Amino acid sequence: MSRVVTGWSYFGVRNPQHVAEDLDDMIRHHANAVLFTLSEEDVAFYLDTMRELVELAHERGLLVYVNPWAWGGVFGGEAFSGFLARNPDARQIDSAGEPVPAACFNQPKFRDAMLRWLDAASHVGADVAMWDEPHFFVFEWDAELAARKGRWTCRCPQCAIRYREQYGGEMPTQRTPEVEQFRHRSILAFLDEMSREARSRGLKNSICILPPTFRLDDGLLRYEDVFALEAIDYVATDPYWNEKSDATWVEQQYRQNAQWLLRHATASGREPEIWIKNFRVRKQQECFIPLATRISYEAGIRRVFAWSYLGSAYMSSLRSDDPLSVYEIQAQAFALCHEQAR
Ligand SMILES: [Zn+2]
Repeated sequence: MSRVVTGWSYFGVRNPQHVAEDLDDMIRHHANAVLFTLSEEDVAFYLDTMRELVELAHERGLLVYVNPWAWGGVFGGEAFSGFLARNPDARQIDSAGEPVPAACFNQPKFRDAMLRWLDAASHVGADVAMWDEPHFFVFEWDAELAARKGRWTCRCPQCAIRYREQYGGEMPTQRTPEVEQFRHRSILAFLDEMSREARSRGLKNSICILPPTFRLDDGLLRYEDVFALEAIDYVATDPYWNEKSDATWVEQQYRQNAQWLLRHATASGREPEIWIKNFRVRKQQECFIPLATRISYEAGIRRVFAWSYLGSAYMSSLRSDDPLSVYEIQAQAFALCHEQAR
């Protein structure tokens, strides 16, 4: 395999006949890896189908990632969560005492559910478990709950017990430095446990953190702490532009985040990865794709992925203006990475 790893995420199609054709197509477009989303629905109803899909990818020499797509509402992704419907007592509780549609990292039931996800990831034969954007509930991202902006999670009974154990008192309703620290430690402890469990099942681990330069309210105070987790192999980020971003923004964000990743990855012996936006790409923004890919490569990143296959053509909420053009442009950018690595 090339020293460079490139590939797309893939979702929405579970028919092996069509997936085989798409995998061949990806390979013709300079991919040597693929990420299959492995949602709650996939694990419940498509488990052995997913195993077939991973076999098809392996037969073709592709490296296979899977991610817990929107599991419990705490990772990135568009999938719905049956876990939340069945376990309302495992939801995060906000600082005003109201639940939010996301599971709490500290709830044993959710940790058990994630162990079942890891069993599934192992069963389907994946190579890498990708922990995508783990975060405490971000109110600004939820159109229906944005009015609660200013609140924070989590004050569920389980968090109250753990907070008392760690800090020796009742959990405040105000956002104190101890609360901030508790949230940070809660996510890290979850990732530490899950990545060790993944490794014990023969899987490698990639954590995709939200871009450090974005300073989002996801609960992690110091992103560099994820590099210290014992079972982490790769650390990624995804500085996706929005509709108003210009080329200068893309250049700065990809450069800063790529350099940050490389610095911490080198110091800790991990490998950095970066994600390029291949969804909701407006026509005039297609030039950002080769720009972001080139800047990441020049910064020293050798594992470059794009979300998602075919410019996200087949999910209308994510579809790019000209998805096939996005796909061809990303393929050319991948090809350049491989050529330069020779
Ligand atoms: Zn909680």
